[in-house]
Amino acid sequence: MCYDKFTPLKFKLNCGDDLELLKQRILKDGHVSSDNVLKVDSFLNHQLDIQLLSEIGNEFYRIFANNNITKILTIEASGIAIASMAGIHFNVPVVFAKKTKSKNIDGDVYIGTVQSFTHGRKYDIIVSRKFLCDNDRILIIDDFLARGNAMLGLIDIVNQSGAQLCGAGVVIEKGFQNGGKLLKQKNVNLHSLAVIKSMKDGKLTFG
Ligand code: 5GP
Repeated sequence: MCYDKFTPLKFKLNCGDDLELLKQRILKDGHVSSDNVLKVDSFLNHQLDIQLLSEIGNEFYRIFANNNITKILTIEASGIAIASMAGIHFNVPVVFAKKTKSKNIDGDVYIGTVQSFTHGRKYDIIVSRKFLCDNDRILIIDDFLARGNAMLGLIDIVNQSGAQLCGAGVVIEKGFQNGGKLLKQKNVNLHSLAVIKSMKDGKLTFG
């Protein structure tokens, strides 16, 4: 059956806006598939609402514009579209960590390890050394922040490269899963566009 509920957003996540409309979109089109997993595949994770992604990219630019970012780092697959939209505004390259070592990666690599939230297993993430340098100023972008493992894996790779981590931008943080707390304890300059306080019994509450 074809998903026919797609209604592209006609809004701007303007400066100072409390991102109410992003929250409304999550409430309208997101659904909780178990107590801890929020499905947003009709606009963020599978089918992409490009207008929304463009506004999200713009909002990340507004937040981190003064950080002299030279590269955006994300993780495949869902982070790529979001990071790319931000990359247009920053006018910097976007590097994505790969989840499997493919023949397309030649030479030396940085390797981090991530405990997958959605699949419940550990996997390596890989970035070619030639794409992260010690004079880079990095912004990490991802779709979700839950327990913080994907972020920690990416931060590990930034640290291995000697680059400076200037910030981390997340579209949806599940505030009840402690990833945000963990990153703030590590002094990461974290900004989440929507923070979910609770998803109990399929009901979403924002923080
Ligand atoms: P963490 O590593 O912070 O525990 O989880 C973050 C990663 O797991 C993100 O890259 C995201 O792809 C995935 N993830 C975590 N929670 C959710 C969720 O509720 N819904 C979806 N769609 N992905 C999630």
